[in-house]
Amino acid sequence: MKDNCIFCKIANGEIPSKTIFENDNFRVILDLGPATKGHALVMPKEHYANLYELPEDLAMEAMKIAKQMAEKMTKALSCQGFNLVQNNGEVAGQTVHHFHLHLIPRYEGDGQNILWEPGKASPEELEEVKNCILQ
Ligand code: AMP
Ligand code: ZN
Repeated sequence: MKDNCIFCKIANGEIPSKTIFENDNFRVILDLGPATKGHALVMPKEHYANLYELPEDLAMEAMKIAKQMAEKMTKALSCQGFNLVQNNGEVAGQTVHHFHLHLIPRYEGDGQNILWEPGKASPEELEEVKNCILQ
C-alpha cells in the first residue's frame, strides 16, 4: 500500500466503497462521479500507478474481470453499450495515480461523449509511425 493513495485505502477496505466485485487481487467499486448509471472502476489491491507498472498477469486479470462485469452489468442495468476506458498519465486524463479501469455502461441518449475527433494521416505518415514502433 502506498501512503496517501486513496485507491489503496478503498481497494483494501480501509475506506468504505460501493463494492460490486472483490477477489484476492482486485476490487470493483462504483465511481463517485459516474459518467453514466453504473460507472465502475476495476482496481488492484496492490499499488501500481498505471498500466506501465501493472504486472502482465494482473493486466490479464483486470480484462477478464472487465468482461465478466460488462456481461453482468449489461443484464442488470439494461444498458445498450459499454465503454472500457483506462487513462495513463495526466496528459491522458489520469487524475488518480493508482491503476484503474473504467467500466462505463452506455444508454441511448445518455449525453456522454467518450469519442475523439478523428485526425488525418497520409500513407507515408502511417508508414513512418509503423516503422517507428516496429524498430
Ligand atoms: P481517472 O481520471 O482515470 O484517474 O479517473 C479517476 C476516477 O476516480 C474519476 O472517475 C473519479 O470520479 C473517481 N473517483 C475519485 N475519487 C473517488 C472515490 N473516493 N470513490 C470512487 N470514485 C472516485
Ligand atoms: Zn494506491
